[in-house]
Amino acid sequence: MGIIVMLLIYEWKHYVAHRPIKPITKFGVWVKKLHLLHHFKNENYWYGVSTPFVDILFGTLKDEKKVQTSKTVRDLEKREKSS
Ligand SMILES: [Zn+2]
Repeated sequence: MGIIVMLLIYEWKHYVAHRPIKPITKFGVWVKKLHLLHHFKNENYWYGVSTPFVDILFGTLKDEKKVQTSKTVRDLEKREKSS
């Protein structure tokens, strides 16, 4: 039951991040901003969708001003494939 609830929360947060919905809380606004940075600034940071906890854990929660915009963030197919 806990896993299903967490999945629903994750999907809801992801939906809110991609739709023109303004989150109610400041935390929600911040989490949405981080996810949009992940999609539109640099795909190598800000992995957390529903919480920035994983980014704190893995060091991928960065100050957006200190991260360069990735050349491949809008077209992930152009990323070099690691072999
Ligand atoms: Zn997304």
